[in-house]
Amino acid sequence: MHELSLSGAVLNTVVKHAGDRRVSLVSLRVGRLRQVVPDTLEFYFEFVARGTLCEGARLELEVVEASLRCEECELEWEIEIPAFRCPTCGGAEVAVATGNEFEVESIEVEEAACIAQK
Ligand SMILES: [Zn+2]
Repeated sequence: MHELSLSGAVLNTVVKHAGDRRVSLVSLRVGRLRQVVPDTLEFYFEFVARGTLCEGARLELEVVEASLRCEECELEWEIEIPAFRCPTCGGAEVAVATGNEFEVESIEVEEAACIAQK
């Protein structure tokens, strides 16, 4: 299950940064291209967090829209349906600029907020 392994990855990252403090909130940035189902992710996170410092922590998801960047002119644009060609110069040398994120943005622990290292 996609969301199950992602939940495990989130938990590992958070536990590493939490030290021995109890975590109350985990903020995630998830790119649209990851095709994550938020409810499913929350469900699995709650499951894998049982018995850890993250037990009972709230999961907050920010979805990052997918965008491409043209390597020729550096234009960035958001995509709905993948159209891998630059609308301005027609260049086909494009790279995914955003939309592939899956990162822990920050966590809150009982004493103080802690910004996760990327
Ligand atoms: Zn271009």
